Order: sequence, then C-alpha cells, then structure tokens
Amino acid sequence: MRILVTNDDGAFATGIQHLVAVAREFGDVKVVAPDGERSACGHAMTMRVPLRVKPVSVFDGVEAYAVNGMPVDCVNMGLHLCWPEGCDLVLSGINHGPNLGYDVTYSGTVAGAMEGVINGIHSVSVSVAPLVSGQELRFDTVERWLRENWQAVTTPLSHDLTFVNVNVPNTDYSELKGQRVVPMGRRVYKEKFERRADPWGVDYYWQGGAVIEEGEQPGTDFGAVTEGYVSITPVTIDWTQHGALDDLAGRVTSCRS
Ligand code: MN
Repeated sequence: MRILVTNDDGAFATGIQHLVAVAREFGDVKVVAPDGERSACGHAMTMRVPLRVKPVSVFDGVEAYAVNGMPVDCVNMGLHLCWPEGCDLVLSGINHGPNLGYDVTYSGTVAGAMEGVINGIHSVSVSVAPLVSGQELRFDTVERWLRENWQAVTTPLSHDLTFVNVNVPNTDYSELKGQRVVPMGRRVYKEKFERRADPWGVDYYWQGGAVIEEGEQPGTDFGAVTEGYVSITPVTIDWTQHGALDDLAGRVTSCRS
C-alpha cells in the first residue's frame, strides 16, 4: 500500500511522528508536510509565492519533505514528487487538538484529507481530541487505536469524494469506551475575541483561545468524544444541500413570471 502522510502542525510536530509509526507497519510511507505550523489554514493553497521543498530526516529512514506551504500544497507536492503514479491512501494528522463539528472547515489537517479525495485517493484525517486546553496529548492512545482499527478506516468507501475524519478522546487507551460512526455536530465559540492592550495602550485582539459552547449533542462527533468514544465521520466535499435545490429553483423561476 502506497501511503502519503501530511499534517498541519508541521513536519517536526509530535503527532505526525506517531501517524508515520503506524502507517509504516501497513505500507510504503512518504511524508510531505509544512515546514512549520499551519493550523486553521483550512483548504488554502499557495499560489503567489514559490514552493520550496526540503528533505527532512526526522522519520527514521522514511522519505520525507518539508514544504513552505499549506497541507493542500503538501498533498499535491507529495503526489507530484513522491507518488507520480498515484498512491492508495492519504493520511493527515495526528492533529494536536480536536477537529469536531464546524471546526473541520477551519482545519488544515482535514483539508489535507479533502485534497486527497479531490485527487481520487481514499483519505483519513486523524486528531487527538482533548476538550480542555493544557492537557498532555495522548498520542500513544491514538496510535494504538489506529493500529487496531486500520482496516476499518483505511479501506476505500463506496461513495466518492468522501473522506473519513477521526477524533480520538485524549485519555488512556484503557479508558476509551469504543467508537461511534456519527455525523458532524456543532462547535460554536462563545467569546471569539480576547481584547488586550499593547505596551503603548493600544488595543489588540486574540482570536481562538476562547471558551467553547457545545451543549448536549448526542449522536454527533462531539457527543461521541465527550462520552469517551472515538468519533468516525464520513465527510463529503459535495457541499451542495440537495434538499434545498428544488426550493431555490422554484424561487428563481418565479422571478421571471
Ligand atoms: Mn493543527
């Protein structure tokens, strides 16, 4: 099995080390990842500056490159440089934090998997999901879970343009309750901005480190992780709301009558 691994925390992050450790047990792995952290870059692509690619040797013999771009750039560069004949699987992660609910739209980790399926390759994004900040991240738990559930998540789906988004609770492996295949939930940021003052008394803002408001969401990815289950969500990049097509078409038609 030919595997391309990327992430959004950068080639030198801890999480990707653990993902490569599992992946190399199941196939031939090549790594192309950003040269630094690109978290929350979403599905961005670099088009106005040249991409620089540098070999890195932090993966114990695995061919690997760091790119001054985004996860999307890394997937495409990986297919161009490492797997010009194509590959069988794109893995993105292990992200240092959850990618639940709407957060998948901001996530560079998830965007790596999106770019994989756009290229016609089965793809999986993997995150370790602490629900409070400051915890030590249990990549060992993710690694073990992924090893034991490898076939389930890496076997291509019958639906095209669909990737698999996995979030593993940040607990000891013995405390995992199991796994649930669930739809995306909501993840709404309660206080988006924190205002501070610089040394000259001018206000500035920090975004993103705020309290999160989720509420009870049984039956969703957030609900599963909250209850101690690994969440597994099939995500499609067909963003069309098919249920709204007729309604919208009806309105457009009526404009002309
Ligand atoms: Mn990240």
